[in-house]
Amino acid sequence: NMSAEIVAVGTELLLGQIANTNAQWISDELASIGVNVHHHSVVGDNLERVENQFRVSGERSDIIIITGGLGPTEDDLTREAFQKITNMEIIEDERSMNKIESFFETREMEMTPNNKKQARVFAGSDVIKNQTGMAPGMIVSNEGKTWIFLPGVPREMKRMMTDSVLPRLKNQSGGGSVIKSVMLRFIGIGESTLEHELSDLIKRQTNPTIAPLAQSEGVAIRLTAKADSDNEAAAVINRTKQEILKRTGTYYYGDDDRSLAEEVSALLKKNNLTIGAAESLTGGQFTDRLISIPGASNVCCGGIICYDAQVKEKVLHVSSDIINQEGTVSKACADAMAENVRLLLDADIGISFTGVAGPDTSEGHSPGTVFIAVYDQSGKQLTEKFNFHGDRQAIRKRTVLKGYELLFK
Ligand code: ATP
Ligand code: MG
Repeated sequence: NMSAEIVAVGTELLLGQIANTNAQWISDELASIGVNVHHHSVVGDNLERVENQFRVSGERSDIIIITGGLGPTEDDLTREAFQKITNMEIIEDERSMNKIESFFETREMEMTPNNKKQARVFAGSDVIKNQTGMAPGMIVSNEGKTWIFLPGVPREMKRMMTDSVLPRLKNQSGGGSVIKSVMLRFIGIGESTLEHELSDLIKRQTNPTIAPLAQSEGVAIRLTAKADSDNEAAAVINRTKQEILKRTGTYYYGDDDRSLAEEVSALLKKNNLTIGAAESLTGGQFTDRLISIPGASNVCCGGIICYDAQVKEKVLHVSSDIINQEGTVSKACADAMAENVRLLLDADIGISFTGVAGPDTSEGHSPGTVFIAVYDQSGKQLTEKFNFHGDRQAIRKRTVLKGYELLFK
């Protein structure tokens, strides 16, 4: 089995000015096609140190992916370092040169001579076109090793990986065999609990591999299968997926890139239901997510941002009794908000969010105290109280997610 490593070049990474998100992203992509990554390295913009790093990497790995240092400036010296250890000839790539020249022409900007440097590539390398920037990438075969040079700018690097590098490595790694990967998404269960439930499966995993991951929305499990055909790989994945869902299916909400909001939106659409939201501490974030999804007009009536108590009273008609006696951070207030917003917006379902985002306490409640109420046309009602942790933004985000989670159930 082939091993890969990632070398990020750039002093700003060593200074802590930026995080090495390139390596993280590339590793994740390589894992999804079954390529093992054995090392991450970061090296500053220093010719000798980059050279040394390349020597070490070339000794131990089959595939070396390098990001950064292909740009026009003095400190971009990835090419020079690789040339030093391989003596490979560097030539000017005409297509890249044309692209760089027209970039400056169309913007009516003067091109400084050092920009030409970006069009220089190794003779005999596969040049990867840069669709979103200037310096091209390169794939170089040298002494049985594959060297892949990519720009440091994440957007440019990702495009090249997706369009050119990953399809090629996929072919190279399997010898015709198929790699398939699926992400199972869960909400309402922690990573450690999920892992515990599946620990025996995880321990004896071979094909598919089973990797739990913490996500910004809940947790996920990635299954990666290798097989001789697409169908066979799908069957391998499906067998394990069913076993996993047998144990943890109640927390499962969807596969791959589907967000919880998308699942909820699809569910509403399927049941021909519309929703309206009364949002206090979430400030419109719940509705914003829903409207971000194409086809939202079928399911989303709208939302009312009722941050101030006055707005809850005057616009949403929450009674002054509730506001003065129970307070705005209360079950009674959440219920009234959900019920009234449903009527006001003529929606099938009303949902409300009220609580304390912090950092200060409010009406005697500590930050993270949140009420969410859901009201439907039959008068069926669900109200829950939560105690979220984290700072103001984390509490607001958790509140929005919890709202989607309640709707999904
Ligand atoms: P350019 O042609 O734009 O100069 P380059 O190939 O020379 O690109 P760098 O100059 O090293 O690449 O990096 C360009 C920018 O890309 C950096 O300022 C940084 O914001 C981002 N970047 C570089 N390396 C990484 C990395 N490993 N992870 C995340 N971002 C990175
Ligand atoms: Mg640069």
